[in-house]
Amino acid sequence: MSQTIVVKIGTSSLTQPDTGYLALATIAQVVDSLSRLRKLGHQVILVSSGAVGVGCMRLGLTERPRTISMKQAVAAVGQGRLIRTYDDLFTALQQPIAQVLLTRSDLVQRSRYVNAYRTFRQLLKLGVIPIVNENDTLAVEELKFGDNDTLSALVASLIGADWLFLLTDVDRLYSADPRYDPNARPIALVNQIDELEALHVEVGDRGTNWGTGGMVTKISAARIATTAGVRTVITEGRSPQNIEKILQGEAIGTLFEPQPQPFNARKRWIAHGLLPAGKLYLDSGAVNAIRQAGKSLLAAGIKEVEGEFQSQDAVQLCDSRGQEIARGIVNYSSVELQKIRGCRSEDIPSILGYEGAETVVHRDNLVLS
Ligand code: GLU
Repeated sequence: MSQTIVVKIGTSSLTQPDTGYLALATIAQVVDSLSRLRKLGHQVILVSSGAVGVGCMRLGLTERPRTISMKQAVAAVGQGRLIRTYDDLFTALQQPIAQVLLTRSDLVQRSRYVNAYRTFRQLLKLGVIPIVNENDTLAVEELKFGDNDTLSALVASLIGADWLFLLTDVDRLYSADPRYDPNARPIALVNQIDELEALHVEVGDRGTNWGTGGMVTKISAARIATTAGVRTVITEGRSPQNIEKILQGEAIGTLFEPQPQPFNARKRWIAHGLLPAGKLYLDSGAVNAIRQAGKSLLAAGIKEVEGEFQSQDAVQLCDSRGQEIARGIVNYSSVELQKIRGCRSEDIPSILGYEGAETVVHRDNLVLS
C-alpha cells in the first residue's frame, strides 16, 4: 500500500567528519533509496540539513559561524549548492525534486498552514520529491524551528504522513550514549514516549560540531510526530536502504508507535502550528475536567493569566505548578480574562458589560499536551 514517508537527514550524515566535504557516497545512497521508494509507489519528502555546513565548506570556513548574519549568509551559499547536488543525483535516476524552504511563521496562520499542506500534496501528486529545509537565510532568530528534527516532525504532522524516518549517525536509540558508555542498551520499540523515563534512558545532547540536533531533539520530534499519528523511526543515515526493509516490518533502528488516538488535522495545527502567546494557570478541578473528562475550559477554573494576547490567539493551559497540560485557542483577550478569571459563566455579562463566549477555550479548540 502506498505510504507517505518523510525522511530527515542531518549535517553529520551528509558531510565527512574530518574534512566537512559532502559525504557523496551516503548522499548517493539516500538518493537511490528514496527513488526506489517512489518507484514502489510511495510518496516521499526529504528534510535535509546542510545549508550552513555546505556553505562553510564552499567559503573555506573551518568552524560553524557564530553571528546570526554570518549564519544566514553562509546558509544562502550552501542551500543552492546542496540542492544542486541533490538535483544532479536525482536527475540521474529520472526523479524530479523541488526545493521547499519553510519558516516557523508559515505555520502559524491557519490559511498559510493549509496553503503549505496543499503545495506539498500537489508536489506529491506530481511524483516529485520535495526537499525541505528551514529558510535559514530569512528566518528570524526568535522564531525558528531551531533544528531539522523538529521541522521534519512538523512537516510530517502537517501533511499527515504515515512514517517519519530520522536518519542519524547511530543505528538506533540507546539507554545511554554508546559512543561514551559501553553498557548502553539498544532500544528497539517505544510504545509510549513517557516509557523512556522508566527505562532510564539518558539522552545526552552531544551532537557533532556541525549539526544542531542530538537524541533530545529526536525524541521530542518523535513525540510531536506520534501524537499526529505518524510512526517514527530513528535509524542510521549510512544505510538508507534500511528504510525499505523497515517498511516491510524488519526490526531495524528504534520504532516509536503512533498514539492510538492521534489528533485530527485541525487539532494538529493547534498543537504544532500555532505559537502560544500566553499562559492560563488552572485550578485542579479544571485540570481534571480537561484531562479526564475532555471538557471545555470555563472562566471559573482560571487562577492566573500570564502574557498579553487577543481573542483567538493560542494559549498554554497549565496546572498550578506551571506544567503545560493542554493548549488551545482562547475566546477572550488577556485583559478580559484578568477581569473574569475565577468567575461563574453567568456573571460574565455583568462584569464585562457585554455577552461573551460561554467557554474560555472550547474543547474543539483544545489539545492535550
Ligand atoms: N537548517 C540548518 C542547515 O541546513 C540545519 C538545522 C539542523 O542541523 O538541524 O544547515
